[in-house]
Amino acid sequence: MKDIRDLDIVGKRVFIRCDFNVPTDEFGNISDDRRIKSALPTIRYCIDRDCKIVLASHFGRPEGNGFEAEYSLATVAKRFHSLLKTDNIFMASDVVGEDAKSKAQSLEAGDVLLIENVRFEKGETQNDETFAKALADYGDFYINDAFGACHREHASIHAIAKFFDANHKAAGFLMGKEINFFQKVIQDPVRPFIAVVGGSKVSGKLQALTNLIEKVDKVIIGGGMAFTFLKAQGYEIGKSLVEDDLIEEANIIMAKAKERGVKFYLPVDIVVASEFSENATIKFLPTQEIPQGWMGLDVGPASSRLFREVINDAKTIIWNGPMGVYEIDKFSKGSIDMSHYIAQSHATTIVGGGDTADVVNKAGDSDEMTFVSTGGGASLKLIEGEILPGVEALQS
Ligand code: AMP
Repeated sequence: MKDIRDLDIVGKRVFIRCDFNVPTDEFGNISDDRRIKSALPTIRYCIDRDCKIVLASHFGRPEGNGFEAEYSLATVAKRFHSLLKTDNIFMASDVVGEDAKSKAQSLEAGDVLLIENVRFEKGETQNDETFAKALADYGDFYINDAFGACHREHASIHAIAKFFDANHKAAGFLMGKEINFFQKVIQDPVRPFIAVVGGSKVSGKLQALTNLIEKVDKVIIGGGMAFTFLKAQGYEIGKSLVEDDLIEEANIIMAKAKERGVKFYLPVDIVVASEFSENATIKFLPTQEIPQGWMGLDVGPASSRLFREVINDAKTIIWNGPMGVYEIDKFSKGSIDMSHYIAQSHATTIVGGGDTADVVNKAGDSDEMTFVSTGGGASLKLIEGEILPGVEALQS
C-alpha cells in the first residue's frame, strides 16, 4: 500500500475519501469532531502542493434515493471551514450531479470542494462500478483516508480504486497511522500484552476475541458480554444480557485461554438493577449473588480494583468495549475507572471502538492514551486479522 508521499501530486486533481461520519447530539450539533480534525494533515498536505482537491464522505445512513437534509454534510463543511482556516472551501449540493461536477471543474490550485454525502447515491453501498467511475473522474489521484469506513465494500472505498493504477492511488496519513498502529501492536506487541474487551454482546466480538487469545498474555472481560461467560461458568445471571447460543463458544474461548496460559478475568462483583433505567434501584453484589429478575449493568468496585491490579504490569493494552452501560451515569463508573487506569498505566495504550472512544472522552483521558482509533468496526476487523476491503483495493 502506497503512502500519499510516494505520489507525485503537485498541481494535480486529487480525490480524497474521508470519514466525516461524526456523531451529533439531539440538536444536530457535531458532538465529537475528531474525525474531521484527523483528516486535516492529508488535506493540508495536498493544499500545500497546489492540488485541486475533491473530498467525499458518507454521513449516517440515508436511504440512497437522493438528498436528505438530515444527512447533509453541510454541518461538517462549516466545522471543516473553521478548523482548516482557509476561505477556499466549497460545498456541492449533490454527489455526481451538475453542481458538483461544475464546481469541481472550476477549482483552482489549493481549492477544496466537499461533495455531498456519497450515500445519497444507491451505487455507493452497492459498490457500483458506474458510480465509482463517476467519482474517480474527479481526480487524477485517489487517496483513501477513511479508515473508519475501510471495512466496507462500498464504491468510494473499493470499486473506485480499480480506476487508478499503483502510481495514482495511496493511503492518506490517518489511514497509514491507523493500519500501522494496529498491525504493529497485534503482530509484535511489547509484553505483557493485555486485552480489555467489553461492550454489549459476545457475538459482535467473537472473532476478535478468538484472535486475541492467540496473541495476548491476559484478557479482561467486562460489559454485557461478561454474562455469557459467567453463565457458561454456571452462575445465576438474572435478567442480564446473555447469548445462550454462544455459551459453548464462551467455554471454548476460556478453555483455549487456559491451554495457552492466558490469564482470563471476569468481573467479581456487579452493579445490578431492577430494570434498565436511570431510576432503577441498584445493588452492588458479588457475581455469585445476582438475584433472579435483576440485571447486571456495570462491573462493581471490587472488579475495578482487581482490573487495576491486572493491568498494573502491562506494556501494551488494547481496549475495545465499555465495562457497563456507560451512557447512564449510574452504570458508567466501571468504564470511567477503566479509562483512568489504562490512561495512568505506563503501557502503550490503544483504544478502538466508537463507544470506547466516547468513554475515554467523557473520562477526560483522550490525551493520555497512546492512540485512540477513529474507526470502531474497522479496528475490530484488524484485530480479527482481516484484510480490510479498502486496504486491499489500494494494494491491488
Ligand atoms: P458494543 O457496540 O458491542 O461495543 O457495545 C457497546 C454498548 O454496550 C454500549 O451501548 C453499552 O451501553 C452496552 N453495554 C455495556 N455493558 C452492558 C450491560 N451490562 N448490559 C447491557 N448493555 C451493556
